[in-house]
Amino acid sequence: KNDTIGFIGLGQMGFRMANNLYTKSNFSLVIHDINKSSIEKFTSLHSTTISQKPIYHAKSPAEVARKASVIITMLPSSPHVKDVYLGKDGLIEGLDNQSFFIDSSTIDQSVSKDVAQKVIDKGARQIDAPVSGGVVGAEAATLTFMVGASTEADFLKSKPYLTYMGKNIVHCGGLGTGQIAKICNNMLLAISMIGVSEAMNLGIKLGIDPKLLADILNTSSGRCWSSDTYNPCPGIMPNVPSSKDYEGGFGNTLIAKDLRLAVNAANDVQATIILGAITQQIYNALSKSPDYEKKDFSSIYKWLNERSGN
Ligand code: NAD
Repeated sequence: KNDTIGFIGLGQMGFRMANNLYTKSNFSLVIHDINKSSIEKFTSLHSTTISQKPIYHAKSPAEVARKASVIITMLPSSPHVKDVYLGKDGLIEGLDNQSFFIDSSTIDQSVSKDVAQKVIDKGARQIDAPVSGGVVGAEAATLTFMVGASTEADFLKSKPYLTYMGKNIVHCGGLGTGQIAKICNNMLLAISMIGVSEAMNLGIKLGIDPKLLADILNTSSGRCWSSDTYNPCPGIMPNVPSSKDYEGGFGNTLIAKDLRLAVNAANDVQATIILGAITQQIYNALSKSPDYEKKDFSSIYKWLNERSGN
């Protein structure tokens, strides 16, 4: 059991994270996903590898917990996490007092704390460790993990495992604090993405060369990640979603979810957020539009452009 790590949720992020974990460590894997094609893709990717490390396919989260002590989950949102941990054949049904769960999904921090507490009450340990860095960071194992752990020992225990998948591993505080850091970051990211899109769209409409404008922004005080690493205007940077018709990357549905988490959390503690709330409405609209729901969140540039005059 100690030679094996469990991984549940082999989606855009989880697939790449599990792949790094498997190829860079000496651990065997036990994997589970409700989407059978992800499992098949993962196992066939490694079917030709000459390795002493098996990859087991577990039929349920409970089976994962029976086969591995350390288990990482990377699921879309709060209901999926509740289901995988506490539902029928969930992790809670297979755990023992050696079980150590790392939930890297971005979810509601109160759900995160609640699920972790139920696991801890059963004698196992759990931390939240949502990530920043997107699919590029997941692929390159350069993710930032924001860890909410109730003890320093839990944080230190998680570090060697997370190091296979990430570059920066930060202890943010007690349970749920990883989620707090994550939603604050993503609210700011979404606001800055709209800001860069508006600035680029305005400048281009006024007649400045797009690349020149991007260069100026990136060496001036408007510079930010959305402008210098993930520019939303097509043709400025290669290999970012804006230059690939906004395919891949971080979808509008996911950023809308993170913004909803931020707005709900702000309401809970009566923190005033103005741009965050407007940004949430914009991404909510994009996530419900058939043309945009599957596109990367930088497609806000295209959306603004379509609403601008010629
Ligand atoms: P995804 O939808 O691509 O993957 C989720 C995976 O979970 C899918 O393979 C799905 O089949 C599986 N799943 C869903 N319900 C399940 C269940 N009950 N049992 C087993 N498997 C189940 O999502 P993603 O893009 O990989 O994101 C995962 C999490 O990471 C989300 O919380 C997201 O907000 C966060 N995140 C995503 C990015 C990004 O760029 N995509 C960046 C940072 C954080």
